[in-house]
Amino acid sequence: STVFAGRDVALFGLGGSGLATARALIAGGARVHAFDDNAERVEAVRAQGVPITDLREADFAGFAALILSPGVPLTHPVPHWSVTKAQAAGVEIIGDIELFCRERAKLAPDAPFIAITGTNGKSTTTALIAHILRETGRDVQMGGNIGAAILSLEPPADARFHVVEISSYQIDLTPSLAPTIGLLLNLSPDHIDRHGSMEHYADVKERLVAKAKLALIGRDDEHCEDIGRRLSQLEGADVYPVSATRELPWGYFVHDGLVLARNAGEDVETALALGDLEGISTLRGAHNAQNTAFACAACWHAGVSTPAIAQALPSFPGLPHRMEEVPGPEGLTFINDSKATNAESTARALASFDRVWWILGGKPKEGGIDSLAEYFPRVARAYLIGEASDAFAQTLEGRVPYERCGTLEKAVARAAADAQASADEAPVILFSPACASFDQFRSFEHRGDVFREVVKKIPGC
Ligand code: ADP
Repeated sequence: STVFAGRDVALFGLGGSGLATARALIAGGARVHAFDDNAERVEAVRAQGVPITDLREADFAGFAALILSPGVPLTHPVPHWSVTKAQAAGVEIIGDIELFCRERAKLAPDAPFIAITGTNGKSTTTALIAHILRETGRDVQMGGNIGAAILSLEPPADARFHVVEISSYQIDLTPSLAPTIGLLLNLSPDHIDRHGSMEHYADVKERLVAKAKLALIGRDDEHCEDIGRRLSQLEGADVYPVSATRELPWGYFVHDGLVLARNAGEDVETALALGDLEGISTLRGAHNAQNTAFACAACWHAGVSTPAIAQALPSFPGLPHRMEEVPGPEGLTFINDSKATNAESTARALASFDRVWWILGGKPKEGGIDSLAEYFPRVARAYLIGEASDAFAQTLEGRVPYERCGTLEKAVARAAADAQASADEAPVILFSPACASFDQFRSFEHRGDVFREVVKKIPGC
């Protein structure tokens, strides 16, 4: 990034995207002063040849900017010390996506830039858009909050699509965010701890679509509905509503498993069908209907033809650990939903099947699984693992047959045996833990990988 060529910039936060940011700035001729509170990270980045400056001692007045990692508190609960220092010195505070936006403005201001945000479904929608565009032969760079750091991607160019997932923390650090197509999927209370209030969280998310050339905004929750209505009324606005749950008078919605694009005044029967969700196992469930409707709409506006969109959908491989079907013994379906670290996510999983053999547990979250009671009738039997076992057993008592298995290995073996012996025609074994993984695993990814391995070892597999 040549945005700060010849100037001194402070870079705080060296996990994840920090190294890519440092490299891009150095390659663009900036003098980088990198730092982190974690000494190990500092050493790891120093070993890669990035110049380190102890920013606690530094005079910020000489810096053109503080480039902050999105994981570092900007406001809540208290601003990080580097933020306070930068503010005191009148130095602007931005993130890596802002660097990308400024670079794009210089190099290729009309280069297609699709930005995706929302509380849930960001990664799935981002990956699906990238998939459709790639399947239809476009040059696609995907990254941001998913996969590669944005500054490690190829630079913006006229016929190159950047499909970028952006979290609320990243939006906060990106004042020039003005994508070609902006998507706001949904809003529900999450990360409120970091943003102080729902109002502020919604305001931040709104910024991604407010300056988009074309905006796609969800209609399935009150916060998005409100933002969509408000932005539509602005002069020159190009805003389309998207719903997975109801028929809209115009816009994009899902009807009988079809993603429809409807003009005002048009009948549902004559609306344009962009995609058919029927039988696509990687896009199961109402939540994925929402993600797919958004992805189809974005690709349509990006210039992909209707048949090309419809043709690309079935080959979407899905994302690992999110309702991922993993290979197992014949006749049984195993679903790895290790990403479901809370009850809300697990609710989506349970809602996607009529009957399941359910493996759950781990490090419990506040509220446990009380909120899942409406889905209990779908559970053939529950298999409990990890620290949550006692609490979950109490919730299930008298409502769902269950057993304590301790480990994931034992739970898979027990669930597979029961499912196989059952009269179910096509039994589904669902691993959707509704818990964090840290009691027994390094991460939800590690937990999902172990599930996959254990399933592979079942006799008859
Ligand atoms: P994000 O990137 O926003 O965290 P993902 O696409 O990784 O979202 O999906 C994570 C989990 O969130 C999924 O396993 C599913 O349980 C849930 N989810 C996905 N899409 C949606 C959606 N549109 N609405 C509500 N929940 C969703």
